[in-house]
Amino acid sequence: MQNAAQDVLARPRLTIDLAAAAANYALVKERAHGAEAGATIKADAYGLGAEPLARAFSAAGCTTFFVANAEEGARARAALGATPAIYVYNGILEGEAETFLAHDLRPILNDAWQVELWARARAQSAHARAALHVDTGINRLGMATALARDILESRDALNDTGVDLVISHLACADEPAAPHNARQRDAFAALADDLRARHDGLRFSLANSAGVWLGADYAFDLVRPGYALYGGHASPLSPALQTVVTLEAPILQLRELSKGDAVGYGASWRAEHDVLAATVALGYADGFLRAGGGRGYGVLNGVKCPILGRISMDLATLDISQARSAASPGALIEFLGANADLDKAGAAAGTIGYELLTGLGPRCARQYLTASS
Ligand SMILES: *Cc1c(COP(=O)(O)O)cnc(C)c1O
Repeated sequence: MQNAAQDVLARPRLTIDLAAAAANYALVKERAHGAEAGATIKADAYGLGAEPLARAFSAAGCTTFFVANAEEGARARAALGATPAIYVYNGILEGEAETFLAHDLRPILNDAWQVELWARARAQSAHARAALHVDTGINRLGMATALARDILESRDALNDTGVDLVISHLACADEPAAPHNARQRDAFAALADDLRARHDGLRFSLANSAGVWLGADYAFDLVRPGYALYGGHASPLSPALQTVVTLEAPILQLRELSKGDAVGYGASWRAEHDVLAATVALGYADGFLRAGGGRGYGVLNGVKCPILGRISMDLATLDISQARSAASPGALIEFLGANADLDKAGAAAGTIGYELLTGLGPRCARQYLTASS
């Protein structure tokens, strides 16, 4: 993905392919078993830039967005304009109602006191909407199904609260064989059957990215993927998705190492034979986790080049002996992208691709590709 027209800077380069993200959205939509496909753009669209990604999904037909908190919601509203629905996963705390109402955000209410708070706050804004979060077995956010039933039965709840959606969240969607999945789905389906009979127009949502791939009985009315849209394969059932994120870093210095030479802090790696080493402008301050030292790799000229020793704040050193012909200062080594899988890079750092994406630092020079670029 090296672009000759662009100067190579002595810093990492992050390329975000908006056309690929839009294509992933289209694929999810096609595989959503007839459910509406929303888009989760929390945490700055997983570190990639909430505004450009939100606009790309909107242009691809998305009309329902999910963020984590009201501040993210306000940014999304500014990027998206007045029309799309924006739901806020974290719900609402005392003092936030004005922000929700001012930006037409929909809190996902997770307990009875939030329902009360919201009912009071929206008394003057009959159009303001919200969702209920029901816990079916993750024990993170959400109310018991019995409480959700009570709330929606004991009062003219839809009028008082503007609730138009009920969600729940899967704990094990990335493990298709886990029995927990069917238990959560069955509990949610029983609740949905009851409530649908009573409340016209109430909709239901269970599936994140990995949940979409579990099958039609997980889709309900609305799916809310995040990771898949950004090219992440969260489950063995995931279809092939397009690569959205490419992370590259330029070689700053080349060095011939001889047997016995040590590399980096702690001299933790020693050459067992002659090696051509390249030091690149990428370190843990850029989100390239130190835990990936000695296990991760970069790709130069199609060749996998192991990381030698520890990753430091601004630098990492790689063995590029097998890619000698491409070795020159300024040449870009790929750390995430079509040749360096996001999920494998996460595993090499002892974590998941989600954490790598959300940790990508502000020092990475960002460029966005659109269909025409
Ligand atoms: C983050 C989140 C999602 C999206 O999850 P992905 O695995 O990225 O698709 C969906 N629902 C809830 C409640 C979330 O917190």
